Amino acid sequence: MNAGTTTRALKRIIESVATSDGAGVRLRRSLGQSPYARLDPFLMLDEFSSFDANDYIAGFPAHPHRGFETVTYLLDGHMLHEDHMGNRGDLKSGAVQWMSAGRGIIHSEMPQQEHGRMRGFQLWINLPAREKMKPAGYRDIEPGEIPLIDLPGGGRAKLIAGIFVSQERDVAGPIQGLTTDPLYVDVELPAGAAFVQPLSDERNAFIYVFEGGASVGATGTARTLATHSAGLLGPGDRVEVGAGPEGARFLLLAGKPLGEPIVQHGPFVMNTREEIEQAIRDYQSGDLTKAAG
Ligand code: FE
Repeated sequence: MNAGTTTRALKRIIESVATSDGAGVRLRRSLGQSPYARLDPFLMLDEFSSFDANDYIAGFPAHPHRGFETVTYLLDGHMLHEDHMGNRGDLKSGAVQWMSAGRGIIHSEMPQQEHGRMRGFQLWINLPAREKMKPAGYRDIEPGEIPLIDLPGGGRAKLIAGIFVSQERDVAGPIQGLTTDPLYVDVELPAGAAFVQPLSDERNAFIYVFEGGASVGATGTARTLATHSAGLLGPGDRVEVGAGPEGARFLLLAGKPLGEPIVQHGPFVMNTREEIEQAIRDYQSGDLTKAAG
C-alpha cells in the first residue's frame, strides 16, 4: 500500500442509548454513555429528535459547566440560550452555538416551540489542561455562515469547523484555530453515493449516522454502520463512506487527541479529582463564573 492512501477502517461501533438529560429532554447518547465510550478529545455526543413537545419542552434550565467546550447544532426547531455573561442566542434551524466553558459558565437552553420537530446534536469537546481555566467564550453561528459544499459523487456537506478538502479548493468552516483542531462536517449522500475525504492520522475521527445507513472503510473491507450509531475510525489518512439504498446523513468529526487524564463529575471535566472538588466548591460558593485572580 502506498503512503498517503490508507483508508481508515471502522474499528469500533458505539450504538446510542436512549436516555434523558436537563429537565427531562429525551435523547440518544453515543459517545459519553460511559467513561469507556469516549474518543479523545470528544467526550460526548447526544442526538435529540422528536415531534412530541413532551420530549423536549422542559429543556435545559440553568446549569454550570467547567473545563471543556459544548457545541449545539440545531437541525430543526428553535432554542433560546442565555448565560450568566448576558449572552442571548436565538438558535434557529441550521444554526450552531459554540461555547467554551473554560473556568465556568452557567447557562440555559430552552426550546421556544411547542409544535413541530426539535432535532439536533450536542457535542462536548475537551479542553487541554492549560486552557481549562480560561475565561468562558461563546459564539453563535448563523446558518448562512456555514459553507455548503456540493460533493463530486452527489450529495452535499455543511462545514461547521475545520478545513474541508474539496475538488477545486480547500474550504474553511467558521470555527478555526482551536488546540484540538476540530473538523465538524454534516454530510448528506443520495442512495449509493460515495464520500471520500483526506484526514490525516494526527486526529482521532468518528462518524455518526443519523439518517439512512452507511458503509465505512475501503471498498471490499467496509463495515456497515447503522442509524444512530457512532463509528470510531482506525488509523490512516483518508475517510471513505458509502451510502446505503436509503441514502445516508452523517456527522464526520475529527480532533487532535489531548492524551491527558480525564476526571468527570457531571458537567465538570477536569484532569484530577482535586480540580473536580474545587469546581464543585466554586459552583456552590458562586466563584465558578468569577474572573480568576
Ligand atoms: Fe449546557
